[in-house]
Amino acid sequence: MIKYKLVCKKCKNIFDSWFASSKEFEKLKKKNFLGCISCNSNDVDKSLMSPLVIKNTKQFSKKDEKNKNIRAKLKEYKKFIKSNFNYVGKNFAYEARIMHYNKKKPLKGIYGNASLDQIKELKEEGIETEIIPWINENEN
Ligand SMILES: [Zn+2]
Repeated sequence: MIKYKLVCKKCKNIFDSWFASSKEFEKLKKKNFLGCISCNSNDVDKSLMSPLVIKNTKQFSKKDEKNKNIRAKLKEYKKFIKSNFNYVGKNFAYEARIMHYNKKKPLKGIYGNASLDQIKELKEEGIETEIIPWINENEN
């Protein structure tokens, strides 16, 4: 599952919505099945402005069928993030602040690594981040 922040171009409302995959989102958007929850306009798009923190995960064993599906979803998610977000690595907290305090917003969101302390500090400054599970390529 992927959570997107959607932004309505008509009334500027921003709201969260869940999708099975990035492909499902594109499909629904193409068919005009996406609607603003406050004004019902179909002119909504996803907002990529929330910075993402990578969290490495090893909790999914390969044997379990159910976990295989989760791994496949997470891999798809990872692919999506790689093509839509800029990787900033350990500069994450710094870059997230630039994004937050600069009036001119970048076109792409960012993702990178941050410690729990950094995430807490950012939150205190009003910068919300999302923590995403990250599957290691060589765990196949
Ligand atoms: Zn609206």
